[in-house]
Amino acid sequence: MTETAPITAIGNALIVGGGIGGMAAALALAARGVTAELIDIDPDWRVYGAGITITGPTLRAYQRLGMVEDIAREGAIVSGSRMFLFNGMHMRDLDEPPIEEGLPATGGIMRPVLHHLMQQRIEAASIPVRLGVTVETLANRDGGVDVTFSDGTAGRYDLVIGADSVRSRVRELAFPHMGDAVRTGQGCWRVAMAKPPSLERGEMFFGHRYMVGITRCGVDRIYMWLLTPHEDREERLEGEALVDQMKTHLADFAGNAGWVRDTMSAQDWVNYRPLEAKIQPRPWSDGRIVLLGDAVHATTPHLASGAGMAVESALVLAEELARAGTAEDALMAYEERRYERCRDVVETSVAIGAAQLAGRPGEEIGGIMGAALHRLAGPF
Ligand SMILES: Cc1cc2nc3c(=O)[nH]c(=O)nc-3n(C[C@H](O)[C@H](O)[C@H](O)COP(=O)(O)OP(=O)(O)OC[C@H]3O[C@@H](n4cnc5c(N)ncnc54)[C@H](O)[C@@H]3O)c2cc1C
Repeated sequence: MTETAPITAIGNALIVGGGIGGMAAALALAARGVTAELIDIDPDWRVYGAGITITGPTLRAYQRLGMVEDIAREGAIVSGSRMFLFNGMHMRDLDEPPIEEGLPATGGIMRPVLHHLMQQRIEAASIPVRLGVTVETLANRDGGVDVTFSDGTAGRYDLVIGADSVRSRVRELAFPHMGDAVRTGQGCWRVAMAKPPSLERGEMFFGHRYMVGITRCGVDRIYMWLLTPHEDREERLEGEALVDQMKTHLADFAGNAGWVRDTMSAQDWVNYRPLEAKIQPRPWSDGRIVLLGDAVHATTPHLASGAGMAVESALVLAEELARAGTAEDALMAYEERRYERCRDVVETSVAIGAAQLAGRPGEEIGGIMGAALHRLAGPF
């Protein structure tokens, strides 16, 4: 951890959801002296088997958690990406300079590997974790939150953080002015598998009504994503039928996208998921209950920034708690710093998807993407 001014505004905190944002929040608070406790509804605390793209801003956020070396060692760090037409014709290489001195440019990692690295940090920080448990009730009372849990236990906390993702139970219990994320009309196909022999950097394929990208996630692992207009029946496909449908969508693609299509099989991790997003309306806190991550700023993968935003939100929350005299002031300052930046990511990601669905030219979509990534490289 880089900056660790102590937090005095609160003594303890409950974090609901042990994913990327929840673990980042637990680590950031514990490093500043807060007694953090983490719960996750999944009794096995698993994460699904895809890869994840780690952009420059996401690396910067992980650097603040002291985890960039871990990601470089267990994942892949690259200096930019290669752009192709869908038929395999090379268009250009996009060098992505580091956004801060001493920081790698960009990279990728398998989700289970990242999850495990963060879990190791949680264990090393002696943060207690309870699994297979969620919150039943939350009541703001006398400057704290009384909580009952699904296992029949109860507790009292100075702060409750809802980091329980897009279908957040904390949001449902405490934020009636918010609502469900909204489907965007696109779906994302992903396969995680062995690296094509000639692939070194990330690759993107343009000029087709479907968009494809490959992210290197380790010495010999990649994941490839494909965005298509969503169809309800595809959501129900499994096994060979799922693999066959993804291959059909990739029929026109060549280069390494074609290599992946021809090489992938039902033995690889393959997934289809309709995309949904929502920047939740303010306020993001109620008394001593606050939200972060996909619970409040769920986004689509178009800017590969959801994980980075979740880690940034965790860091900013800890920073503001250390800076402010009271928890209430800190929660207001947190929301003030996070709302616009997260709104930008969510709305721009949705706009890129809409432009793809409308068949807008690749240069236009690339322009929207490039401008957004430039804004995100700014301070958070
Ligand atoms: C198809 C797709 C591809 C993506 N690709 C990228 C990418 O390449 N790069 C990137 O930066 N972002 C990407 N994202 C976004 C990124 O995955 C999310 O923004 C990020 O995981 C959000 O972190 P989180 O902690 O809010 O939620 P999660 O990481 O989902 O963690 C939530 C945790 O809460 C737990 N939980 C859920 N409900 C409860 C409950 N009721 N009680 C207790 N615990 C609960 C879950 O078990 C889970 O452990 C992608 C998203 C999608 C949909």
